[in-house]
Amino acid sequence: MKDKTKLIHGYPAFDEATGASSIPIYQCSTFKQASIKDGQPYTYSRFGNPTRTALEEAVAALENGNYATAFASGMGAISAVLLSFNQGDHLVMCKSIYGGTFQLVNEVMERFGIEVTFVDETKLEEWEQAIRPNTRGLYLETPSNPLLSVTDIAGVVAIAKDHQLVTMMDNTFMTPQFQKPLSLGIDVVIHSATKFINGHSDVVAGLVVTNNEKWHQQIKLQQKVLGGILGVEDCWLTMRGLKTMALRMEQSARSAEKISQMLEEHPAVQRVHYPGLPSHPGYQVHQRQASSGGAVLSFELVDQEAVYTFAEALKIPIAAVSLGGVESILSYPVTMSHACVPKEEREKQGVTDGLLRLSVGIEDTEDLIADLLQALAKVQLTVK
Ligand SMILES: *Cc1c(COP(=O)(O)O)cnc(C)c1O
Repeated sequence: MKDKTKLIHGYPAFDEATGASSIPIYQCSTFKQASIKDGQPYTYSRFGNPTRTALEEAVAALENGNYATAFASGMGAISAVLLSFNQGDHLVMCKSIYGGTFQLVNEVMERFGIEVTFVDETKLEEWEQAIRPNTRGLYLETPSNPLLSVTDIAGVVAIAKDHQLVTMMDNTFMTPQFQKPLSLGIDVVIHSATKFINGHSDVVAGLVVTNNEKWHQQIKLQQKVLGGILGVEDCWLTMRGLKTMALRMEQSARSAEKISQMLEEHPAVQRVHYPGLPSHPGYQVHQRQASSGGAVLSFELVDQEAVYTFAEALKIPIAAVSLGGVESILSYPVTMSHACVPKEEREKQGVTDGLLRLSVGIEDTEDLIADLLQALAKVQLTVK
């Protein structure tokens, strides 16, 4: 079954009991038991709920995974995975990592005696060199945020196999539509379903998918005892959003590609970061492991003044944090995701005063390009 069919039929998408065309919202905390003597599949909603199971099965199917677990946020999913390690364990992670994950590592995991080394994710030798006798896992995120750097997934998996390490990957930016890490050998895949999977900027949710039964049992335990389950209404909304993911992603990625080409040619734009552009340093690797450049790109204007002029002139994209909605979203890392990173450190990471990130929505491509062009025209008037 191809993905577009899978999105509608590849999991229990219809209610067995009544034939309802969408899985009902089982709005209950507990379940009347047939007998006090025996257990039954559903007993208490923190342990399991049929609406949540439906979403978990849907996402597992799309990632070609056997098991999925749904959490109250992407960070809920990431912490369930990372807090599975023990005191004295060491992990290697990509340095271009989601800000919340970075904070979790530095401000929480450190207290539990779990050490992390950050490496330049684009250099396979750095992953290898960072491995120590107590290293237990490698954690990656590709393409990265906000500079869309690309990590060679199969390369990292090969290193992990040599050293018998578990591999974990945040697949939020590509979605299972465009990149299937389990098929490339990754053990545990994580999503912020807040983004493209739900796709409508109206839910915060997270997912973990794996084929490894031992890891699934561990994550399931974390879900149960840490308690960060996704509520049933949000499960239902996420499933509703998921059904149109392929169509949304196709439209958004097609626009993102055209927009990145336009920006690359434009004299007011210093640099464009989009893994679907042949000029992107990770283009070849990305082509091997993903089927599209995706719907997120970033670009650099000359300075902060240009950024402000541009953002104020822009009419269609909303200025906001987050990404992956049906509406285009313009983010300014300097005042948003990287506001608490000191300027010097931020610039070292490549997050300059002129950097903007655009999550391309499903609006008409020509309308978006016309809007970006008129805003860029104002920038040129200012700087020249
Ligand atoms: C948003 C995001 C997260 C965190 O997800 P929440 O749903 O906000 O908790 C993690 N990783 C990436 C790549 C993200 O974009």
